[in-house]
Amino acid sequence: MDGLNKFIYEIGSDSAFSILARSNELLKEGKDVINLGIGQPDFPTATNIVESAVRAMRDGNHGYSASNGILELREAVAKDFFNRNNVEVDPDNILITPGGKAIIFYTLLIFGQPNVEIITPDPGFIAYRSMIDYMGAKAVALPNRMENNFSFDADELLSLINKNTRLIILNSPANPTGGVVPHNELKKLAKGLENYPEVFILSDEIYSRILFDGHKHTSLLSFPEVRERVIVLDGWSKTYSMTGWRLGYGIFPKKIFKFAEKLAINCHSCISIPTQIAGIEALNGNQDSVNKMVDVFQERRDFLVEQINTIKNVKCLSPGGAFYIFPKIKKKNMSSKEVSNYLLEKKFVATVPGSSFGKNGEGFLRVSYASNKESLIKFINLLKEFMNE
Ligand code: PMP
Repeated sequence: MDGLNKFIYEIGSDSAFSILARSNELLKEGKDVINLGIGQPDFPTATNIVESAVRAMRDGNHGYSASNGILELREAVAKDFFNRNNVEVDPDNILITPGGKAIIFYTLLIFGQPNVEIITPDPGFIAYRSMIDYMGAKAVALPNRMENNFSFDADELLSLINKNTRLIILNSPANPTGGVVPHNELKKLAKGLENYPEVFILSDEIYSRILFDGHKHTSLLSFPEVRERVIVLDGWSKTYSMTGWRLGYGIFPKKIFKFAEKLAINCHSCISIPTQIAGIEALNGNQDSVNKMVDVFQERRDFLVEQINTIKNVKCLSPGGAFYIFPKIKKKNMSSKEVSNYLLEKKFVATVPGSSFGKNGEGFLRVSYASNKESLIKFINLLKEFMNE
C-alpha cells in the first residue's frame, strides 16, 4: 500500500469536464469546435441578478455568512418550493451550498460506507457513482431504459432493495437522458417504500424548472409516506443560468440536517454573501428569462430530435426535460466512447459517450443542446457525414 485511502483509486470523474478541456485545447489550435459536451445553459445570467450581486459587493458584504446560508435566502427557497410543489419546508432544514453537487457529496459522506448498498440511476449523473465508489459502498444500478422513456419502473426499483440498502438516488428530469419520471411511478414508489422505513432517498431535482410539453414537476417531498426520508437537491445553476456562481441547496430531513451542516462547516464554511443575495433576486425577481430560456430549449429539442432521426442508424426520443438528447447510435462495432472520441478529434464536435453514465448508457451519446441553433445545424451535418463514412 502507498498510504493513501484505498478507495481513492475508485473515485471517478466527470468526463464532461475532461472533454471540455480537450475542446478548449482544440480551440486554441484554431479548430472550429462545436461544444455540445458540457451541461450548462448558453444564456448569460439575467441582468437584475448580476446587478444585485454587484450592489452587494459594493455595500461591503465581504465576510463569512452563516454556514447554512443567510435566512432571507433560505426563506426565499422555502417560498419558491411551496409555490412550485405545494409543500411547506422549514428554512432551518435548508442548506445552501456551492452548487448542487455539494449536496451529493455530503449526502454520500453521510450514507456511504462498506457493506452498504446505494441504488443509483443507470445511465445517471457521474458524480453519484464516483462518490458511492469512493465511500466503499456498493452501487446498485437502477436501469432507466429507452423503452421506458428513460424513466424507471417502481416495481423493479423496489425489487433491488435488500437489508443493506440505505439510500436511493433519483433524478428527474434526468441527466444524461432528459427523461422525466411520471407522477404515478413516483406515487407507486412512495407507497412501496412504506415497507422499507430505513431507506432514504436523494431526489436530485436540479432540472425541475426545465420541462416541456406541459409536463409538471412532482417533487418526491410531496409524498407524505416518505417525507421524513427525502433529501431534495436543487439550485440556481440550470434554472437561472448560474453554473459558474456555484450556488445550490439541499432540503434535509430534520434528523440528518445537522450532519450535513457539520460537513459544510468543515468543508466550504459558507457561500459568498453577494452570491447568496443574487440567489434571492433570482427567486423573488421577474421569471421571464427562465420561461424564455425553456421555450428556446423546447424549440431546439424539437429541431434536433426531428433532424437526428432522419439519420440512418440513429434513434432518438424526444425528452420531456433538461437540455440533453440521448440518441442511440449504431456505427459498425464502435463503442460510444470511440464514437464520441472520433467526433471530437476528427469532426471537432464535443459530446459525452453514454457509457460514462453507466453500463446502460453504452451505445448512446449525450448531446447538450444548450448551444445556439447554428451549432446544432452543423452538428447534424457532421454526424450525418460521419454515419455515411
Ligand atoms: N445534478 C445533476 C443531475 C446535474 O446534471 C448537475 C450539473 N451538471 C448537478 C447536479 C450539479 O449542479 P451544480 O452545478 O449546481 O453543482
